[in-house]
Amino acid sequence: MEVFFPRTLAELWPLLAAYPTGAVLAGGTDLLVKLRKTGVRPPALFALERLAVLRQMAVRDGELHIGAAVTVSELVDSDTVQKALPALWEAACLLGSPPVRHGATVGGNVCTASPAGDTLPPLYVYGAAVTVASAAGERRLPIDAFIAGPGRTALIPGEIVTGVVVPLPSAGTFSAYYKVGKRRAMAVAVASLAVRLERDAGGAVRDIRLAWGSVGPQVVSLPAVEAFLRGRRLTEAVLREAGAMAAAAVRPIDDVRASADYRRRLAGNLLLKLAASGGDEEEDG
Ligand SMILES: Cc1cc2nc3c(=O)[nH]c(=O)nc-3n(C[C@H](O)[C@H](O)[C@H](O)COP(=O)(O)OP(=O)(O)OC[C@H]3O[C@@H](n4cnc5c(N)ncnc54)[C@H](O)[C@@H]3O)c2cc1C
Repeated sequence: MEVFFPRTLAELWPLLAAYPTGAVLAGGTDLLVKLRKTGVRPPALFALERLAVLRQMAVRDGELHIGAAVTVSELVDSDTVQKALPALWEAACLLGSPPVRHGATVGGNVCTASPAGDTLPPLYVYGAAVTVASAAGERRLPIDAFIAGPGRTALIPGEIVTGVVVPLPSAGTFSAYYKVGKRRAMAVAVASLAVRLERDAGGAVRDIRLAWGSVGPQVVSLPAVEAFLRGRRLTEAVLREAGAMAAAAVRPIDDVRASADYRRRLAGNLLLKLAASGGDEEEDG
């Protein structure tokens, strides 16, 4: 197996063409585990770590551009992410352990397309897009169009993810990420919920986006629950009703980490966190 360390995208494209069954290697926290488990040996690995262009993070035109090879630790250390995108920041803080976060990249989390991928629900509620490039040029796909199914993405041969673009929410927007794992740290989510919420002057919901992780084959959005909450104040009674709707709508699976029934109840109960976390109060931002 050959391992290549291209320094520019121009160097990468001919390698992808020469080894169509090769694999892109970012932090390796998913890929190396998978190769070890399956015994599959791709003929080539294309390491992204020396591609400086994928390691940048910058605000342009009201959007945060996060390079695919930016690590989860770098998200945790970013003031912009912490202040403007708290749901993504909280998800980054809760992903794996410090050594995992040090290697794990945003591009790797998105390309793994796991229903438990922690950065995904925040990227859904912020309306993020994924930038994808090949020798032929670049295209941008909304995150929900990029994720095609569990473990499947819209990438075609010869393409890589170059980054994600996240519109920065207006001041006063509340956002948060809630995750239940089997342990406090290092646990893959049993269920998770990202919320982005704007209220009107009276404290009622003007707009809300919700995205659940680990309660279906991919990230779950429930427009009917969002529509129910719009125009209402987030009292505990309202959140309980919305939670019952969510629990009835999700289609979780049983696996080694939790039963489907437990996940279904969690999907509803996670909404109650909104009442406890200040989501029902006026924001002064
Ligand atoms: C102990 C442990 C705990 C973990 N805990 C969590 C957790 O709590 N939450 C969570 O979400 N994940 C967790 N993970 C999974 C993993 O760390 C993340 O999914 C991580 O973000 C993957 O990023 P990576 O850079 O390591 O990707 P890699 O392993 O390098 O790559 C993952 C996949 O994406 C492809 N890929 C990577 N980058 C690109 C790109 N730019 N373009 C095209 N394809 C690309 C690779 O070919 C591969 O198929 C854990 C993993 C371990 C080992």
